Amino acid sequence: MKVLFGVDIGGTQIKIGCFSEKGILLDKWAVDTDLSEGGRRIIPAVAAEIRSYASGHQISLKEVAGVGMGIPGPVDGDGYVKVCVNLHWREFNPVTELQKEIPGICAAAENDANLAALGEYYCGAGKGTSSMMLVTLGTGVGGGIIIGGNIISGAHGIAGEIGHITTHIEEYEKCNCGNIGCVDQFASATGMVRIMKKLLGSGEFESPLLAKNDFSAKDISECAEDGDPAAKKCLEICMGALGEGLSAFAHAFDPELYVIGGGVSKAGRIIIDAIEKEYEKHFFLIEKGAKITLAVLGNDAGIIGGSILAAKQAGLA
Ligand SMILES: [Zn+2]
Repeated sequence: MKVLFGVDIGGTQIKIGCFSEKGILLDKWAVDTDLSEGGRRIIPAVAAEIRSYASGHQISLKEVAGVGMGIPGPVDGDGYVKVCVNLHWREFNPVTELQKEIPGICAAAENDANLAALGEYYCGAGKGTSSMMLVTLGTGVGGGIIIGGNIISGAHGIAGEIGHITTHIEEYEKCNCGNIGCVDQFASATGMVRIMKKLLGSGEFESPLLAKNDFSAKDISECAEDGDPAAKKCLEICMGALGEGLSAFAHAFDPELYVIGGGVSKAGRIIIDAIEKEYEKHFFLIEKGAKITLAVLGNDAGIIGGSILAAKQAGLA
C-alpha cells in the first residue's frame, strides 16, 4: 500500500495527515511547532513524525509516495522560501531539507492558503467548478487561486494575496505588510477588532462590547447576529472591504466561485451576506459576478490540499 502525507506547518502547530494513494484520510494528528534555532528544527520534526508513523504502521519509507507541505508565506515553484516570518525562516528550502532527512522522498511545498484552496477545489466547496478562489479569514487574510486544478501562485508567489490589495486609500494606519489601506486591515480577525474599537470609541454606539476590555472577532459576529448596531456596522465595513477586493479580483481573473474559509467564516451566513452586499455593487460589465460560498473542509483543508499536492508531485493525480 502506498501512502501520502499532507503537512500543514503553522507558527504554533504542525498538522499532519496520512492518506491512502486514493486520497482517503487514514489518520491525522498535530504537534507543537518548535521555532527555536531559527526554525531549523521544524523539518527534522516533520521527518521524525513521518518515520515514526510509518514504522508504527508497518509502512516502509519506500511506500511513502509523497509529502506535500503547506507554509505560511510565499513559496517559489521549487519550494524555496525567501522569508517566512511565522516560522523564522530566511532563504530556506523545506523540500531539500526534508530530502536530507529522508533521502529519496518525493516532496513539494506550497503556500498554505494555496494548499487549502487545492483541498476545497478537489474535495470541498469547489468540487465540480473549473476555477475557484479560496479566501481564508483568520488572524490575517489569505487567498489561493485554482484554475483547471492548478494552483496559480504567480511569478513571485504572491498571486491570490487578496489581503494585501489596497481598498481603503483614506486609511492612515499601516498594515503589517507596510502598505496602507489593505483588505487585511479590515477583514482579518485583528482588523475586525481594530474597526470595532474605533466604532465604540466614537461614542455613537451602545454595545454590549463597550463593557468588555477585550473582545474577539467571534464576539463581534455574535453581537451582529443579535442585532447590535455597532457590530453590524463593523461587519458592513470589514466584510465590505473584502467584497470590494473580491470584485476587483473578479475583474482580473473572473473565477466561477469564491469560497470563504478560516476562523472568522465560522460565523456563517452573516459573513457571506455582509461580503455580498458590497461585492455586488461593483459589477457593471456583467450582471453578476462569481458566487460566494462558505468553505466546508475546516481545519483539514490544508492537510487534504497537501496530500493532493503530494499526489500531483508523485504523478498519481
Ligand atoms: Zn497589507
